[in-house]
Amino acid sequence: MSLNILVVGAGLAGPALASLLQRSSITSAHHITVVERNPSLRTAGQQIDIKAQGIPILKKMNLLKTMRQHCVAETGFEFLDKNDNMIAQFGVNPVDKRGFGLTSEYEIMRGDMVKVLYDDSLSQRAEVEKEQSQSTRGSLTYEFDKSIETLEQSASHAEVTFSDGQRKRYDLVVAADGQASRTRRLAFGKEISDASFRSMGLHTGYFDVPRLPNENSVARGHSAQQRLFITRPSGRPVTGVYIFTKKDFEGLRGSYDQSIEKQKEIWIRNLDGLEWQKERFAEGIRNCTDFYAHEQGQVRMEKLYKGRVVLLGDSGYCPSPFTGLGTTSALIGAYVLAGELARNGTNVDAALENYQKLAKPPVTALQHLPTENMGFLFPSSRLGVWVLSSVMRAIYKLGIDKMMPDIMDSAGGTKWSLPEYPEMKFNADEPST
Ligand SMILES: Cc1cc2nc3c(=O)[nH]c(=O)nc-3n(C[C@H](O)[C@H](O)[C@H](O)COP(=O)(O)OP(=O)(O)OC[C@H]3O[C@@H](n4cnc5c(N)ncnc54)[C@H](O)[C@@H]3O)c2cc1C
Repeated sequence: MSLNILVVGAGLAGPALASLLQRSSITSAHHITVVERNPSLRTAGQQIDIKAQGIPILKKMNLLKTMRQHCVAETGFEFLDKNDNMIAQFGVNPVDKRGFGLTSEYEIMRGDMVKVLYDDSLSQRAEVEKEQSQSTRGSLTYEFDKSIETLEQSASHAEVTFSDGQRKRYDLVVAADGQASRTRRLAFGKEISDASFRSMGLHTGYFDVPRLPNENSVARGHSAQQRLFITRPSGRPVTGVYIFTKKDFEGLRGSYDQSIEKQKEIWIRNLDGLEWQKERFAEGIRNCTDFYAHEQGQVRMEKLYKGRVVLLGDSGYCPSPFTGLGTTSALIGAYVLAGELARNGTNVDAALENYQKLAKPPVTALQHLPTENMGFLFPSSRLGVWVLSSVMRAIYKLGIDKMMPDIMDSAGGTKWSLPEYPEMKFNADEPST
């Protein structure tokens, strides 16, 4: 018997799961619909890392080589003062290490990774359609410009109303709709859902600006009062800009439900007093088409499913971009959920119980931050900026960043091994790099 599965969100986790579900005869017989709120694949965003267990999962999926081809050309990070004088310089972090440097061995534009996973889900589907008869091969459909409005559950299914007024019944609903997941709110209730978000008291804006002739493969950072600015050219024709702000300026917290134009106005006001690239950033925000901003924080849900709704990726265990491990967590979740659905046939309850048991420990461990308090990166006075610069210089001069522990050790001591799923077909031949 095949299941009707709804995946809400075609970011990273949704397409990864859709692709993995095509890799067993049991799960590829299911009817899978992925709905995405955006009118097309949402490829905005800057650089994301692939680390730890994300590497062997992509290798199993035969996608590591493709990801490698999309890796950006970033060779390190320099911390600069307002006159562009170098204060400190850090290199590239190996896959299994944290470090003071920004760059990981596998660093890729978010949009490229979303596209690779989306394309792969469709190619895997095409393979299934070639190999299996119509009666056993299920389906995979993406529907854009669509989201869910209501959700009601019984013991064995969830009934969903969509933004276009359609009402449908599913055996399983996967919430892959990111940090501010509406599906999580509908399934668990507003109170539990809101309480799961632990704000870091920080907001981040991301956008591209035209690249300057003197920008090479090195990322640059600058600290101003309560704000951190980072530029990342990374061998692309444009330069990615990140603005991290702790400054509690007018209207920011409530701005995420407003139009992008309104959000841009607020972020331009946040450049007041900046003495490094201010005009460039203001013009960049005004003119860019890819502006994205969010409140930095973590999602910590005790239970990863309720009835027939399961949380996947940032909706259930967003570790925050500060860890660089959001992609890895989403891949771990997609791999275990697909594996358990393949192993347990149509026993969805057993699959969800095992997903909770197996995926929760590693994704929780990956939420470990070297420090809960990122405040030291956002000094509020000129003196504070000077102290931060001096600390950065000392770390650089003494080489302290090279002594950072490996990711899984610092994340609770678990050297977590991927569960094996012989029920799924993987290509074991791909070389590791
Ligand atoms: C536009 C964007 C830019 C990002 N940029 C960065 C970055 O630069 N650096 C970084 O570290 N992380 C970034 N992230 C977060 C990063 O993608 C995730 O931490 C991680 O990859 C886990 O992915 P996810 O699929 O769980 O969530 P996401 O990648 O956030 O994907 C969620 C998807 O669900 C869709 N969605 C949301 N609500 C609904 C709804 N109600 N109905 C249907 N669809 C919905 C969204 O449009 C999105 O496509 C970004 C996320 C987004 C959405």
